[in-house]
Amino acid sequence: TNLIEIKNVNKIYDNGVVGLKDINLNVKKGEFLVIVGLSGAGKSTLLRSINRLHDVTSGDILIDGQSIQHASGKALRMMRRNVAMIFQNFNLVKRASVRRNVLSGRVGYYGFLRSSFGFWKKEDVQHAVTALKRVNLAEKFYDRADALSGGQQQRVAIARALMQEPKIMLADEPTASLDPATSNLVMDDLKALNQDLGITVVANLHNEELALKYGSRIVGLRDGELIFDKEADQVSESD
Ligand code: ADP
Ligand code: ADP
Repeated sequence: TNLIEIKNVNKIYDNGVVGLKDINLNVKKGEFLVIVGLSGAGKSTLLRSINRLHDVTSGDILIDGQSIQHASGKALRMMRRNVAMIFQNFNLVKRASVRRNVLSGRVGYYGFLRSSFGFWKKEDVQHAVTALKRVNLAEKFYDRADALSGGQQQRVAIARALMQEPKIMLADEPTASLDPATSNLVMDDLKALNQDLGITVVANLHNEELALKYGSRIVGLRDGELIFDKEADQVSESD
């Protein structure tokens, strides 16, 4: 079954730049999809369309059979809860503790209130510990986020994303600011979520080697167009 359906999607930015051109793409539950392409190819634009960080210009995007592009209010919030995202620059609150950063991933009105005031239910704290264990950082619970290495910060961001119990994890160049060894640790964590929790992963990677190592399927973009879509073991040099 298709968890994500992208149908005839075009994205033209306000300044006239074409971000995406007639994209059609289905992602099945449990896939580890990697999107490759040069800088400016539209990878980020595509990812941001999936959780509707921005609206597309035409076409539709369905999550679990429901249009996120046409959803609003509570329905949209519920859909977004199923779609977590991590970024190249981690987006942690640097001066706050790891604990506080992870707990802030608990979404919803009460989650927001608690993250502002620092009150948490026992079950939320337990959940945060479990999430940090999944990225092998339980011992960093009380450390300040900016005391951690880049790779550790990205893994905290993954733990924070897990707090919303997502079905889909979007990763926008998650390793772009990391060295190769650390990149592998971050990708290993994403792979584990995919295999152990059944979370569907869609990751933008410009590093070909990582794309081939971790992706079960590789999609190529160029100038906003989808130029190939293959199982990882069928990708050849010419792609
Ligand atoms: P990638 O992630 O593959 O590097 P992007 O999706 O960031 O590519 O960019 C695709 C194209 O859209 C590029 O030409 C880029 O300059 C343009 N673009 C991205 N974001 C914006 C924006 N907010 N406003 C206008 N153009 C944008
Ligand atoms: P990426 O690393 O994905 O290529 P960029 O460094 O191109 O991203 O863009 C960084 C930010 O600037 C993003 O928020 C993107 O949406 C925005 N942006 C990119 N290109 C343009 C553009 N041509 N006009 C306006 N904003 C842009």
